[in-house]
This record gives sequence, structure tokens and C-alpha cells, in this order.
Amino acid sequence: MEPAGAPPQGCAPAREAEEPPGSPALPAEEPPGGQPAGASPGEAAPPAAAGRERCRRGGGPQGPPGRATRGRRRRAPGRRRGGEGGRAARRPRVTVDSSKAKTSLEALKISLRQLRWREFPFGRRLPCDIYWHGVSFHDNDIFSGQVNKFPGMTEMVRKITLSRAVRTMQDLFPLEYNFYPRSWILPEEFPLFVDEVRMMKDSDPSWKPTFIVKPDGGCQGDGIYLIKDPSDIRLTGSIQSRPAVVQEYICKPLLVDKLKFDIRLYVLLKSLEPLEIYIAKDGLSRFCTEPYQEPTLKNLHQVFMHLTNYSLNIHSGNFIHSDNVNTGSKRTFSSILCRLSSRGADVKKLWSDIISLVIKTIIALTPELKVYYQSDIPAGKPGPTCFQILGFDILLMKNLKPMLLEVNANPSMRIEHEQELSPGVFENVPSPVDEEVKVAVIRDTLRLVDPQKKKRKDVQQHIESCKKVVNIRYNYFMCYSCQTSEHASEANEELLDAGPAGRPEYDSTRSPEAGLPSLCLKQVFPKYAKQFNYLRLVDRVAALFIRFLGVKGTTKLGPTGFRTFIRNCKLSNSNFSMASVDILYIDITRRWNSMGIDHKESGNTLLYF
Ligand code: ADP
Repeated sequence: MEPAGAPPQGCAPAREAEEPPGSPALPAEEPPGGQPAGASPGEAAPPAAAGRERCRRGGGPQGPPGRATRGRRRRAPGRRRGGEGGRAARRPRVTVDSSKAKTSLEALKISLRQLRWREFPFGRRLPCDIYWHGVSFHDNDIFSGQVNKFPGMTEMVRKITLSRAVRTMQDLFPLEYNFYPRSWILPEEFPLFVDEVRMMKDSDPSWKPTFIVKPDGGCQGDGIYLIKDPSDIRLTGSIQSRPAVVQEYICKPLLVDKLKFDIRLYVLLKSLEPLEIYIAKDGLSRFCTEPYQEPTLKNLHQVFMHLTNYSLNIHSGNFIHSDNVNTGSKRTFSSILCRLSSRGADVKKLWSDIISLVIKTIIALTPELKVYYQSDIPAGKPGPTCFQILGFDILLMKNLKPMLLEVNANPSMRIEHEQELSPGVFENVPSPVDEEVKVAVIRDTLRLVDPQKKKRKDVQQHIESCKKVVNIRYNYFMCYSCQTSEHASEANEELLDAGPAGRPEYDSTRSPEAGLPSLCLKQVFPKYAKQFNYLRLVDRVAALFIRFLGVKGTTKLGPTGFRTFIRNCKLSNSNFSMASVDILYIDITRRWNSMGIDHKESGNTLLYF
């Protein structure tokens, strides 16, 4: 195997090289809220400045105290507390329950230390601000704060569900969704797979395809195999009990050092409603460990040549552990971009294509995610808000077109790898490449969802929206007549008046943000919303579906909801009676059930709707 080359001389530092500064295909727009282009929403006013803005209902500094002081000791205006850092130095510390973090624990701990937030490794009797789950939303019953998983995400990104969701969008917008290989769902679409392949071969006899069969719910390359013909599918037994996706195999991937590699990119879904998406500026490239050759009957079984999974290639004698992010079998994606750029590749275009792949994929997932969300967290009931880091696996074709392989709801956040000390004796050692990328992603996700920052932002927005802000003395903003100031004032009060006595969660040191690097997560939605909003058609269908679900807490529409929908939309008439509506409902239910779609709950899913 050729040694992995270092990035060329004169190449900009990896971190800068990969950033798509205002990609031409996706012109930079100002995100809502008037943030200047390029400024991340996470980079709101520094805490010290935000903390100084005070909006008080009634009275100026010398006026009546107003309700907002809520019996706490009032300080003389302008008198600073906490020494060097001033008023804002006394910040309530964000509390994080890490008791369910599992394999992301190490990276989370480092992030929390950097942020100087308070970790509760064994959980906490009182509510925490943030709950970090290692597997799913349901790892624990949470009724407040924020949790790092969306309900239904694990289900939505399983191979079959993802393929179905993308297929729906491919049917509606074929050109926009051409970044996902043609796929068939087994066993139900096996006859369709056979027919379509035969037709394509008939129309183009030179077409010599390869297909990859991936068991649903599998991961780390488990159970994956390549075939040259539909008749090679192992339909015996297991396929019936273990459904799978069969996909066109991308035969001409981009190679580096003659090796196939894929990209793991980290994407933060910060909010579903409104939709907010961020992409990490750097990711990981995972390399195969045998030089690549286009698939032939002879090499189809060579997993180290065709599958880029780290978990497989680590067992190859050729796997190279490297402390250098530019070499080895796992490297930073920015180092690849740097190399491509030095070869004259249009890296800006590549980034812009990747951004649009990510946005379009999430748009395909949101309708059903919203159904899950309302089912687990019905409107009006107490519940947490959610955010989630997703792992996007992307393969670059030889022509630099990015293709989506899969989305991981629980991307590995391990920052160590196994090393074989002597035959059969393994030890976990730190992996600098993983640590560099993953800690930044977790830490900056936390910075973006920082509940304190949200409060400060609310206060700031309130102050900006106040018509009558007067007297900017003593570092206070005074609002005399605003009727809506109470909430904002209280939030601000909490930040300003928080004293150490009796309140354990205060950090009396300088803002931890001050020493941190700029955010590694870049907002792409709503930043580029204008270009993608037309694709959010199914979202509107989902809103309608959710409205007619009737009983909260379900994901399926029953016969009564279906009737109400038909009636309210005035779809029935003399030719389409309510009896026919019921028959139609039963007919659709039978059809979907026969396709093996989950029917634990009665009723029909959004997909059929
Ligand atoms: P898993 O969840 O088991 O990792 P993936 O869908 O990521 O399943 O596939 C495993 C590996 O197989 C990928 O990392 C990639 O190297 C390869 N692969 C998957 N799909 C394709 C495809 N359509 N064309 C070429 N290679 C693929």
C-alpha cells in the first residue's frame, strides 16, 4: 500500500481549507433575526455585554424597584460584583445529566470541562438543563430541559425507513434527490428489483451493475455483501426474517492513495420547528485498507477493498493508526479537501453540494419526525425540547459528486481506539483525530443549545423590540412602559442577581466562552432556506395529518380521523359516500400491512396518507 501523503506544501491549514466561504451555488443570505452573514447564532453578544442589559418594568435606577427584583438584595447601580469579571461573571452554571451518555461520555466530559458546565454523572434529583443520552430519546423519562435525541430518529434513519423517505422525495423531485443510490426494499420489492434490473440491462447491454445488500438496522458493515445479479440475493430464510435494502453499488468512487474512503460528517439538527440545521466544518475520512479495484466476481468478497467501515478495517493488517490528522486509515476530512484543492478540484462546489445533500436529506426526514414528536411530546404537555447530532456517511464519486450512504442517529463519539499490544491483547489508547473532531462537535453543540444563551437572547430581543427604551446609564437598559417585559426581565434578573449564597450552580470566574475557539458548526438552515423551502411539501401534508390524528400520543390515523379528514376537506360527495370512505380506509390498511410496515399500533401512517 502506498504511504498516505501529507498535504502539499503551501496548503492553508486544514481547518480553513475546507470551509466553503460563501459557496456560489448557495449564496449567503442573512439568517432571520438580522444576524450578520457569517456570524454564527452561537456567537451572540458576549455574556458580559448581554448581562449588562437590563430591562426593568417601571422606574429607573432611582425609581421604584419593580417586580423583577423579586425580593432579592438590590445592588447599587453600577456597583460590580465578582471582581474582574464584573456582574456577568456570576453566571448560573448549566447543569448536564450525563448518566446515560454511554460511549460519548469521555468526549462529553472534556466538552463540559472546557465550558465549565456542571456535570451530573449519576443523574440528579432536581431537573437538569440538559440530558445527554447515548442511545435514544427514551433512555430516560424527561419532562423538562433539553435532550440530545429526537423521538423517532432511530426509527427514521434505519436503512429501510430512510430509503422510503428519500424515495418519496425522489418521486416528487427526481432531479433534486439524485444523490441517493437507486434502492429496493427486500423482501417486498424483490420482484420489482428483478424486473427493473432486467429492463435496464435490456435497454443497455453494456451495463454491468453491482449491487450491495444491507440488512435493515445493521451497522458497522454487519451482514453486508455485494452481488452482480438479483439472482445472487440470499433469499433463503434470513432475508424474510431480516429485511434489507439492496442498492446500486457506486463502482467509481474517488480514491486517495489508491484507496476507497468515505466521509463521516456531523450534522446538528438543532430544532425541528422551526427547522435549524448546522454542519460541522470538519469530519472524518475512513479508509479501506486494500487498494481499490472495480468489483468483479473475484474481488466482490474483499471487504477491506469495498467497505470503508472502521470497525472492519481495524482488523486488517494494513490498518494505519496515526496521530497525524493528515495520514493513516482515519483522517480529518479537511485534510482530504486540502489535498483535493491542491490538485485543482473545485472544493467550494463540493462543499456546496454536501450542504445541499444534508439539507435535502433532513427535509425528507422531517415530516415523519414531526409525527413522532407530537406523539411523544404532545403540544401543551410538559416535555423537553430536543436537538440531535447526526452522522452523515457520504461517498465521493470520482467526479466529486457526493452520494449519501446512510444517516446515523448515534454516530460513534468515542475518542479512543483499540490497539493490539501483543497478539490478542488489546488496549484502548487515545485517538487524536477522533478527539479533535468529536470534542469540538459536542462542545459546540452545547454552546449552540446553551439555555443561558437563549435567555440572554430573549432579553436582547425584548429590549430591541421595546419601543421605549431610555436611559442607558449605569450599564442598564431601562424600559418604562413595555407590557411584555416581565418574562424578559425575569430572565435577565436571574442572570444578574444570581448570587453564590445558597445557590450552588454559579461560576464566579470569567466567561468560559472567552477562551474557546470559534464554533465548528456552521448554520446551513434557515441560512439557505430560500433555496430549499419548495421541497418542504410533505411537511405540509404532515401538518394536516397531525391535525387529523385526533387522539394525541399516536402516530397513526384511525378510521374516525380519516373520516373527519374527508368530511372537513369536503372530499365526499354522492359518488364517494362515507361508506366508500370506510372501504377505502380498509383497503389502504390491508395494502400497507401486506408490505410489512409496522402495524403494532392500529391505523395508518403518514406515508400512506
Ligand atoms: P453500515 O451501517 O453497516 O455501516 P453502510 O450503508 O454505511 O452500512 O455501508 C457500509 C459501507 O459499505 C460504507 O461505509 C461504504 O464503504 C460501503 N457502501 C455502502 N453503500 C454503498 C454503495 N451504494 N456504493 C458503494 N459503496 C457502498
